[in-house]
Amino acid sequence: MASIQLNNVRKVYRDGAAYVAVDGASFTVADGELMVLVGPSGSGKSTLLRMIAGLESITGGDLHIGERRVNDVAPRDRDIAMVFQSYALYPHMSVRQNLGFALKLAKRPKSEIEQRVKTASCVLGLDPILDRKPRQLSGGQRQRVALGRAIVRDPAVFLFDEPLSNLDAKLRVQMRAEISALHRRLGATMVYVTHDQVEAMTLGDRIVVLHEGKIQQIGAPLHLYDHPANRFVAGFIGSPAMNFFEGTMEGAEFVAAGGALRLPVGPVWTDRLRAYAGTPVTLGIRPEALYAARGRPADAQVAPGAFTVEGLEPLGNEIFVHARAGEHAVTARVTPQPLPAPGEPLELGFDLGRLHFFDRETEQSLAPAPAPVE
Ligand code: ADP
Repeated sequence: MASIQLNNVRKVYRDGAAYVAVDGASFTVADGELMVLVGPSGSGKSTLLRMIAGLESITGGDLHIGERRVNDVAPRDRDIAMVFQSYALYPHMSVRQNLGFALKLAKRPKSEIEQRVKTASCVLGLDPILDRKPRQLSGGQRQRVALGRAIVRDPAVFLFDEPLSNLDAKLRVQMRAEISALHRRLGATMVYVTHDQVEAMTLGDRIVVLHEGKIQQIGAPLHLYDHPANRFVAGFIGSPAMNFFEGTMEGAEFVAAGGALRLPVGPVWTDRLRAYAGTPVTLGIRPEALYAARGRPADAQVAPGAFTVEGLEPLGNEIFVHARAGEHAVTARVTPQPLPAPGEPLELGFDLGRLHFFDRETEQSLAPAPAPVE
């Protein structure tokens, strides 16, 4: 096993105009850690992973795997194994042969190949299907064989590039749990790329959030959820997404643009935002920190007469309420209860302990920086 260290790693593509795909990435993946790289399409996460794999050249900066600087080391000499979204199994070979093929190519002794295939097969529950061909397997089984091929190589580092995005939703949840269990069992260093924030939250020891080639924040999943460093991370992590209101502070009140919402923000935020009086700020609040009448904590702050219901989504265990205050749309996630019909007014309570504020210009969080969880 090994750690991975990136120090100001850059990638500039030069087909035609130069394009900065990864802009100065620095972080360390600890030995045995599962680090998830997450971001929207085009944010540079595959490029970053491919640089770690050696499939893409590094324009600038240093990449270490273990003690060794590997910028110019060929992929096969980096002691890594990669699992892709496409399984790329050899169709004419059995599962057993697919699993052992890389070791056979490396001219390992037959007994060692058998032993390693046996171990991987046991870890992944492949024993009953070892003699089948890939076409006789389900999507989940194929992905498990692809995982097995990585395991038999016993690499220092596992790299995953959106390995589950071809699977249906139910299977994805199941495979996610299996990869998580595999990580615990092998204690292996893993880097996992996904655009799916739920996958990132449930799999990662820590998460690197990327946007437009730049690292936005690095931290444990719940740390990112509770303490987003900027508006991008706040909006990207969490589903339904955090609600945002553009506006300004007027004394102890946040006043949303257009004046449809006036919210007293409580003494803590009033104090903290004193320097921002008259300056545009963005208020953020997660759907579950908004309350309809039932279940509302006594200290939740109601913005009187502000909201009109636009639509209700009863999910059985909870209701998503879509409402509006002037130009501002909001989604609240409330416990099942009778609610006003669309078009009728709704009083929503804001949990003042769970407000977020962002500088409108820089989009950085205005909360005092919590101790970093690295
Ligand atoms: P992600 O994996 O987050 O979707 P990528 O790392 O694939 O993002 O791509 C990051 C950016 O780099 C994108 O804007 C993409 O168009 C660009 N890019 C990727 N590969 C190449 C290439 N070979 N040449 C030029 N630009 C590329």
